[in-house]
Amino acid sequence: MQCPLCPPTPLQRIPLEANLPAHTCSGCGGIFLVSSDYFQWREQHKAQRSTHLESVPSIVVTDVPKAKQCLFCRHIMLRYQVGHDVNIILDHCDNCNSVWFDHHKWDVLRNHNLHSDIHRIFTEAWQRRVRDADHRAMMEAIYREKFGSDDYTEVQRVKAWLDAHPQREALRAYLNAENPYRR
Ligand SMILES: [Zn+2]
Ligand SMILES: [Zn+2]
Repeated sequence: MQCPLCPPTPLQRIPLEANLPAHTCSGCGGIFLVSSDYFQWREQHKAQRSTHLESVPSIVVTDVPKAKQCLFCRHIMLRYQVGHDVNIILDHCDNCNSVWFDHHKWDVLRNHNLHSDIHRIFTEAWQRRVRDADHRAMMEAIYREKFGSDDYTEVQRVKAWLDAHPQREALRAYLNAENPYRR
């Protein structure tokens, strides 16, 4: 098995976690994880999973945007944003579900306690939430730019008040009317 980024460097078998075998490249630090190994480990790991997060140390990740060929089945791997405040992209084989991690990406997922839920990242539901969050962040930036930061904060406050008000329809009509007192 050769590294997809620095051939002909051969990948070496390592224990990624206890009872989780994977393959790593001594050149670029990338890691290749086969789906069956991941799910087998996940079954065992489930019992001792903790939801408690220590403070998350920041790790600098160098993303390698180059398309990679799956080492297991030779399909081209697709790139998936992790999202949910974890700003990294993973390479996933949609054919056999193997995953490629550029250097340190596994560590970042472990720090966010996502390393035993990796398979969920590649689902349509997860990816839809990532796109929704991206869209929301883009719209927020547009509104902030258009209104200015203070007015944007104020209009959000007013909107929240209005949306929660039992007379919101009448209040909106009042606000929208140029002269609400016209006969
Ligand atoms: Zn490499
Ligand atoms: Zn594959």
